[in-house]
Amino acid sequence: MSVPKYKRIVLKLSGEAMAGGQGFGLSPEIIKSVAAQVKEIVDLGVEVAVVVGGGNIWRGKVGSEMGMDRATADYMGMLATVMNSLALQDSLEKQDVETRVLSSIEMRQVAEPYIRRRAIRHLEKKRVVIFSAGTGNPYFSTDTTAALRAAEIEADVILMAKNNVDGVYSADPKTDIEAVKYDELSYFDVIQQGLQVMDSTASTLCMDNDIPLVVFSIMEKGNIKRAVLGEKIGTVVRRTL
Ligand code: UDP
Repeated sequence: MSVPKYKRIVLKLSGEAMAGGQGFGLSPEIIKSVAAQVKEIVDLGVEVAVVVGGGNIWRGKVGSEMGMDRATADYMGMLATVMNSLALQDSLEKQDVETRVLSSIEMRQVAEPYIRRRAIRHLEKKRVVIFSAGTGNPYFSTDTTAALRAAEIEADVILMAKNNVDGVYSADPKTDIEAVKYDELSYFDVIQQGLQVMDSTASTLCMDNDIPLVVFSIMEKGNIKRAVLGEKIGTVVRRTL
């Protein structure tokens, strides 16, 4: 029987991981496949919290570049994450996985308000907890949300599932043929070399709180389970190597 390496995890899904080929909107087929991969690790007994991004619907930066007030544009981005979270919840529950969507912005008709102790209780009851609406604050990202919530619920690791890359590279592998993939990195390397893993606020939060990160591709089915079992996939980022 497969023994998971981690007891409690935060899975970070970018908004694009919920979209079809064009990277925009929601693809029910893709969401179903992501949900099936989440179910695989729930069945292993792992406590799963998910943070979903919103980039497939709206990014605050785009709005502010169009002349909108940055905070307003960011709140729109946070609302986009709620839509993605509800879509994932729907798909998980159709596959008989019990879930709760918690929102950092109060909207009681659609989600429970985020209360740390309640989130932990849900996890102990093996419900998948989906953290929506980011941190509830503009100027942050859902990567930072994953780092913050991971620290709060004392998760063992953040699993960062990417839909466009299978780990961390020295340069963009799509444009630079010399780019090399790293197996392991320290947060210090990530920050110092400006590597595109997560934004710097999220990286420092993970570094300061000693939360390891595994960056891998979600395009290969079964990869979330491989990551949970501690198989060598993607890139592992730690405080110290
Ligand atoms: N956002 C925010 N505060 C947060 C989390 C998210 O303002 O704590 C907004 C921000 O505008 C961001 C958008 O929500 O662009 C969508 O999140 P993100 O870009 O992190 O999604 P992803 O790139 O993972 O799809």
